[in-house]
Amino acid sequence: MTFWRNKTVLVAGGAGFIGRHLVRAILEAGSKVYVLDDFSTGQEGPLKTLDQTNLTVLTGDISQPTTLPQVDIIYNLASPASPVHYQSDPIRTWKTNILGTLQLFDHAQACNATLVQASTSEVYGDPLSHPQKETDWGHVNPVGPRACYDESKRAAETLLMDAVRTLGADIRIARIFNTYGPGMTVSDGRAIPNFVAQAKSGKALTIHGDGTQTRSFCHVSDTIDGLLRLGEVAAARGEIFNIGNPVENTIFEIAQEIVTLFGDGNDIVFEGRPIDDPQRRRPDIKKAESVLGWAPKVSLRAGLLSLLDLEEPVLRDIL
Ligand code: NAD
Ligand code: UDP
Repeated sequence: MTFWRNKTVLVAGGAGFIGRHLVRAILEAGSKVYVLDDFSTGQEGPLKTLDQTNLTVLTGDISQPTTLPQVDIIYNLASPASPVHYQSDPIRTWKTNILGTLQLFDHAQACNATLVQASTSEVYGDPLSHPQKETDWGHVNPVGPRACYDESKRAAETLLMDAVRTLGADIRIARIFNTYGPGMTVSDGRAIPNFVAQAKSGKALTIHGDGTQTRSFCHVSDTIDGLLRLGEVAAARGEIFNIGNPVENTIFEIAQEIVTLFGDGNDIVFEGRPIDDPQRRRPDIKKAESVLGWAPKVSLRAGLLSLLDLEEPVLRDIL
């Protein structure tokens, strides 16, 4: 981790779920962090519990002109990630991912900084290939309700890879697959926090559709390890990596496991399926394994149990 000593890092979206874990890891490794966040889905409270010596929190919208600090590395995590959030104001989502990424890219160029972009498995849409490889083009409905997110993340990738080709810009792209762990908010509607909250409170677990759709859930500690390696490893420059856990489960299996761990024989009910909800998702991580030396370590069961981990009170209290 010597790479992460004495760097200056801007984390856009650093008040969000993944962002707070990343900020904490970078601070603990000995670097200085600026967070830029508009707090649309993020929370400032947990950041205040971190060591403030090397942390500066700036309030701002990445899609609006903003004066930014001189830094060595920029992580762009600023974007709503949950379907409930990104669909609640789709035009804002689009502006965040396109205008916001453009502004951070311009700033990275001005500072001669590395830009690590948080992209998403959603660029694969409802995939025709399985598991998904970085070379796959995706299968996305460009005008559906998920498109504000999928297509704006794809457009951001287009911008950044054009910059790699034409300017030799130092850009690294993480296509993050479903990530879970302490600090997720129940109100964002994602499957794992919803199911855990339902199981713990004795309610029925709400499955969308018949539960045969699959996802590959990665514990946030593994995602953070992958993101740090992406910023650090020289061979990652100009490259795109799937960052996700290749162990695939149906949503029904996930619900059953959560009832076993947190519940008490809760019912499982089947509701309507959201439009364009992808049927399956599993990352091919060979590229991340060979270039970054990265693979997830946390099993689903251990990861789900981390949602009760008393050693993380800072992040746990907002689950
Ligand atoms: P999150 O919603 O918890 O965090 C996003 C953060 O960005 C929040 O703090 C929010 O306030 C901030 N933000 C949003 N729009 C902004 C804007 N215009 N200007 C400044 N700040 C803004 O989401 P997350 O789960 O932490 O996801 C972080 C990143 O990872 C996102 O870019 C997301 O697309 C990507 N990602 C996440 C997952 C996942 O499973 N969590 C999967 C794939 C990709
Ligand atoms: N899902 C579900 N019940 C819920 C929340 C989500 O069955 O309470 C389903 C959702 O329709 C999707 C899967 O679980 O098929 C994963 O949803 P999530 O929102 O966590 O992630 P994403 O849709 O972004 O993959």
